[in-house]
Amino acid sequence: MSVTRGWQFFMHPGPTNIPQRVLQAMARPAIDFTGPQFVALRDACLERLKAVLKTREGFVIAYAASGHGAWDASIANLFSPGDQVLVCQSGFFSEAWAKTAAHYGLRVEVLPTPERRAVDPGALEERLSRDRAGEIKAVLLVHNETSTGMRHPVAEARAAIDRARHPALYLVDTISSLASFDFRMDEWQIDLAVGGSQKGLMLPPGMSFTAVNPRAWAAAQRSRATRRYWDWRPMIENGRQVRFCGTAPIPYFYGLEVALDMLEEEGLENVFARHRRLAQATRACVRAWGASGGPEVFPLEPEAASDSLTAVLMPPGHDADRVRAIAESRHSVALGRGLGSLQGRVFRIGHMGDLNATTLLGALAGIELALAEAGVPHGPGGVDAAMRALRAAGERQTEAALA
Ligand code: PLP
Repeated sequence: MSVTRGWQFFMHPGPTNIPQRVLQAMARPAIDFTGPQFVALRDACLERLKAVLKTREGFVIAYAASGHGAWDASIANLFSPGDQVLVCQSGFFSEAWAKTAAHYGLRVEVLPTPERRAVDPGALEERLSRDRAGEIKAVLLVHNETSTGMRHPVAEARAAIDRARHPALYLVDTISSLASFDFRMDEWQIDLAVGGSQKGLMLPPGMSFTAVNPRAWAAAQRSRATRRYWDWRPMIENGRQVRFCGTAPIPYFYGLEVALDMLEEEGLENVFARHRRLAQATRACVRAWGASGGPEVFPLEPEAASDSLTAVLMPPGHDADRVRAIAESRHSVALGRGLGSLQGRVFRIGHMGDLNATTLLGALAGIELALAEAGVPHGPGGVDAAMRALRAAGERQTEAALA
């Protein structure tokens, strides 16, 4: 029997590590979810979440559901069967959101994106400019594609929609970007944002939400779609959520209150800076491994590399799942697998949520050992490169603080 000892490095790109403070907050007795104590907690949490989403215009509607539920809600409320939407291709999660739309009877067009590249705002502008009849009712974009570790250009896509003078609604999935790197719902004129509990918000999986601005709310009133669980109308009064469809997910609000405390104590911009440092260190490490035909950072453009996770592309003929299995069983490092067409081709290192540099370095050391034991060719000194990147980032920060 194999026995594990010491710290287990959970490096999945969601769910992420749940801080003890959050776990303890959640381990409290249930209360009446219609009573004043819960109502005050719910209202305060939903209001504070708006600050994380950087919205004043929009309001948040939470569900006792995983992110897939919020996807369903986004489609079920805004559109009528037969409506057309344009989904910007980014990978496994854009495909899954597109499938949700198709299930609701929408006509789904995919704006193609070459593999390992970011969504092209120019191509979006070109497609929307051709839609003179305004057939396309919405553009759907995943901010951070968790299957590829790629950040997509949300602000630039907004500018492309504006340049094309197109009235489409703009829907953005921020499940694995929110509270990890910058997301600005109002400034980028996002009509609907989809979020989830289990990534940068450091909660368990199982609660998701949509943030809705007045344009999206108006579209929901026009929609002819049949809705039940996801129907916003009975949940909202005077621009705020006053009930859930069924029992409220009370423990998630206990946890969310503390997770928001933690984000506010650190400061959102400092949270982003920490994620950026950890991402840069991870990529420096993978680049060192990549010498002499080793694994590579999946995105080809450095600016498209995500701050919340790194997808590592294996050299041809080597199996990412074997590396994952060795990393987990021998070195206590749990990694995300490749999804869909990337299964076996990539493993994913999550570096989001409740994480520090030393934990990351330990995990990278475990992965470097696993690469060697799996017989994967790779350059030496990945962990050294990560430490150098962390030191350089620390020096830049000190200089900025002294300037
Ligand atoms: N969107 C993105 C970007 C995700 O990463 C995920 C899950 O990882 C989802 C949607 C789906 O969320 P869930 O698995 O909570 O249903």
